[in-house]
Amino acid sequence: MRGWWREISSLVLPTECAGCGRGRSAVCAGCVAELGTGRARQVRPTPRPAGLPPVWAATAYADRARGMLLAHKERGMLGLAGPLGAALARSARAAAVASGGEPGPGAVPLVLVPVPSARLAVARRGHDPTRRIALRAAARLRRDGLAVRVLPALRFVRPVLDQVGLAAPERAANLAGALGVRPGPSLVGVPVLVVDDVVTTGASLAEAARTLRRAGALVWGGAVVAGPSGEWIDRTRG
Ligand SMILES: [Zn+2]
Repeated sequence: MRGWWREISSLVLPTECAGCGRGRSAVCAGCVAELGTGRARQVRPTPRPAGLPPVWAATAYADRARGMLLAHKERGMLGLAGPLGAALARSARAAAVASGGEPGPGAVPLVLVPVPSARLAVARRGHDPTRRIALRAAARLRRDGLAVRVLPALRFVRPVLDQVGLAAPERAANLAGALGVRPGPSLVGVPVLVVDDVVTTGASLAEAARTLRRAGALVWGGAVVAGPSGEWIDRTRG
């Protein structure tokens, strides 16, 4: 019911900014600008799930970034894919620099593998938000001269519960063995970054990384748009 109410209310009421809730535009210039600035940071969920690679986030999962991610994911505000993709490009670049280096022109392309959404979630939302943001991030990195492409290499091989509302151990158990590699080009020796919109407990990124390693991929790290600011590594170092 909430879904159709949003649809109808957005037709008859002025739309507020998805980030800050002010104004009458779908997203304001201030929120886009804020998402576009700042240094990507490494985040370390506690407890750290087994197999989680180093994960980089472009911004904190709070307030404006949270509003924009949810509007893109759940309300189909597809125009937000551009600024969200630019933010993901920043964290992907930081993850690449930290592990294997930036793949310049002529290098073996760095592959961004989106964490898959369950088929039912894609059907309900009408799109796959993480894949959409990943494509925009890769386009951005290519414009900056890096050899990067997106490969949706992962899929669910069994049904899982919605992760929302599950605690960290339940999330890990819910996802254990739930992902597989799609038929396609070999991943053996291919440098990959696992990408997602948000990291919370790290269970999804860890499961994706384990699945890709089993297929022979070199998992350089993880990159997300937003992560919990309380778990930024350089915050705990002061
Ligand atoms: Zn705003």
